[in-house]
Amino acid sequence: MSADCPTDFHSAAHLTGNDKLADEMKPYRDFGDFLSEHFDCKVQKISINAGFTCPNRDGTKGRGGCTYCNNRTFNPDYCATGLSVTEQLERGKHFFARKYPHMKYLAYFQAYTNTYAEIAELKAMYEEALVVDDVEGLIIGTRPDCVPDSLLDYLQELSLRTFVLVEYGAESSNDKTLQKINRGHLWGDTVDAVMRTHRRGILCGLHLILGLPDEDETDFMATAKAVATLPVDTLKLHQLQLVKGTPLAHQVAEKEVTVRSWTADEYIDVCIEFLRRLPRRIAVERFVSQSPAELLIAPQWGLKNYEFTNRLNRRIAGLGVVQGDMS
Ligand code: SF4
Repeated sequence: MSADCPTDFHSAAHLTGNDKLADEMKPYRDFGDFLSEHFDCKVQKISINAGFTCPNRDGTKGRGGCTYCNNRTFNPDYCATGLSVTEQLERGKHFFARKYPHMKYLAYFQAYTNTYAEIAELKAMYEEALVVDDVEGLIIGTRPDCVPDSLLDYLQELSLRTFVLVEYGAESSNDKTLQKINRGHLWGDTVDAVMRTHRRGILCGLHLILGLPDEDETDFMATAKAVATLPVDTLKLHQLQLVKGTPLAHQVAEKEVTVRSWTADEYIDVCIEFLRRLPRRIAVERFVSQSPAELLIAPQWGLKNYEFTNRLNRRIAGLGVVQGDMS
C-alpha cells in the first residue's frame, strides 16, 4: 500500500572500521546503512503487484479508500498486474541486471495491502518469491490493522531463514487527521502492530506522509516524537501529493480542507527538523515520492528523488545538525 516505487541502488558491502567512522559522522542513517548490516552485496528492491486489494476500498475497513490514494501512481511498468510473482521478479531482475550482473534482490510486495488474504495464499506468494534465483528476502507493505498474530507467527519463522521487513503505512500519529483522510485505522493500531512485530524479532518499517490536510509543524513534530518511542527499524517520509481523481483533490477544490502549499526547500527544512527528533537507530529510506506527472496536481517541484536528497544533504550539512540531536 505504500505509494512509491523505490528504485535506488543500495551498496551493502560490510562496513570497515573507517566506514563505521564515516557512518557515525553522517548527518543521518540511511537505508543503505541499514542494508549493509544485513547483506554483503548490492541489493535492489523489485516492486511486485501481486493482485491484492485493499480493505479500505472493499468495505471491510471502509469504502472509497484513503482520500489521497490513487493506486495508478503505485507501480513501475515491469510489475503490471496479470504477471505472476515469478514473472514480475524475473522482469525486474532483467531490468537491473543489465547494469549490475551480480546484484541480489528483495521482493517488495508493494501495491495495495499485501497481507490482505488467507494465510495459505500469502505463504504461497511469499515463498514463490523466495525460490526465485538471487532473491534474498521480502519487504511486505501493509496496513497496521491487517496483520493477525497467526500471520506474524509465520513471518517470525520465515525471518529466521531469510530477510523479512514488514512496512506499515502509518501516515500520521494524529487520530483526527487519520479520520479526516478516511484511513480506517488509528495511531493505536500502528503502535499495536509495531509492538507485535518487534516482539517476534521481525524487522519493521513505517511510512509517513508530511503535509496531510490541516496539519502543521506542530503535528509533524508530534508524529516524529511518537515514532521515536517505537522500536521501528526503517522509515519512509513522503510529501503529500495531490493527485488527480482522488477525493482529496475534490475536497481541496471545494475548500473543504487545506493542504500545505510549500516549496521543496520549505519541505526540506521540515524533514530536517523531523530527523533531529528521530533516534539514530531508525534508518531513513527516503523523503519524497513521485507520482506520474500526468496525475500530479501539486506540489510540482520538478526534482528527481536523488536531486531532492542531494539538496537535503547539502542543507543539513550546512546547518550542522544531525539525526537525533533533539530526540
Ligand atoms: S490503504 Fe489507503 S493508501 Fe493503501 S491502497 Fe488502500 S486506499 Fe490506497
